[in-house]
Amino acid sequence: MKKENNGDLTSFLFENLEQYSVFSRVISRKGGFSAIPFDSLNLGGTVGDDPKHLASNKDIVWRTYGIDPGKVFDAWQVHGTSVIYTKEGRTIDQPHQKADILVTDVVGLTLLMRFADCVSTVIYDPKHHAIGIAHAGWQGTVQDVAGTLVKAMSSTFDSEPAALIAGIGPAICIDHYQVGKEVFDQFRDLSVVDSTNSRELTGNEFYLDLKKINSAQLKQAGVQNIENSNICTACDEEHWFSHRRDKGRTGRFGAFIQLRVR
Ligand SMILES: [Zn+2]
Repeated sequence: MKKENNGDLTSFLFENLEQYSVFSRVISRKGGFSAIPFDSLNLGGTVGDDPKHLASNKDIVWRTYGIDPGKVFDAWQVHGTSVIYTKEGRTIDQPHQKADILVTDVVGLTLLMRFADCVSTVIYDPKHHAIGIAHAGWQGTVQDVAGTLVKAMSSTFDSEPAALIAGIGPAICIDHYQVGKEVFDQFRDLSVVDSTNSRELTGNEFYLDLKKINSAQLKQAGVQNIENSNICTACDEEHWFSHRRDKGRTGRFGAFIQLRVR
């Protein structure tokens, strides 16, 4: 990923998407209005932040990136694999629908999700000019959110997996992501999990590399062009909220993707 300063905000972009008519950024926590522990660009509405600060944060994001707030679609992320194919933005009076995978082929519509350690995946089909975004923590990863995203692109837009271009954003690294045996046991049976993306130490210590596992799931689904950020949300406190590092009291950073006219 490449770092970019956008006025008061700082974001990261996938270099493999740069040549296409698609606009995607993972927005860091810097440059917002929220106070500790949501400092400062928190986009999470259910973390306990002051609603006035949240509104100001959204406003600066819309203005900085030229996003039409009436054409933003976001969801209530519930650690599942439900897919929403949307053709319009979510209006203020419309409650969030539950989903962890969003897809669209409507130009100008922004798909937005929120993160603090979980894996963000964005995907683009240059042939059919369609996009998707997904959210996967360990629960979503066990259920193969990444593979489900690829299938959703194929079934909705007739995408060929090998033609898709994907990016995996900042998420918690293996050293910072120790899990219990009951979680690790659910990963043992997955064919994509091996010693390159998981670690078992004697004395019952278990670790997972969620970015690499999601990347392996994309590959298993047939995607070849994948850019993995390799950025850890827990290591890099300057730029990212981390649920694990901050023991649950933290904000959410945003990742979005939008189709542009080609
Ligand atoms: Zn780390």
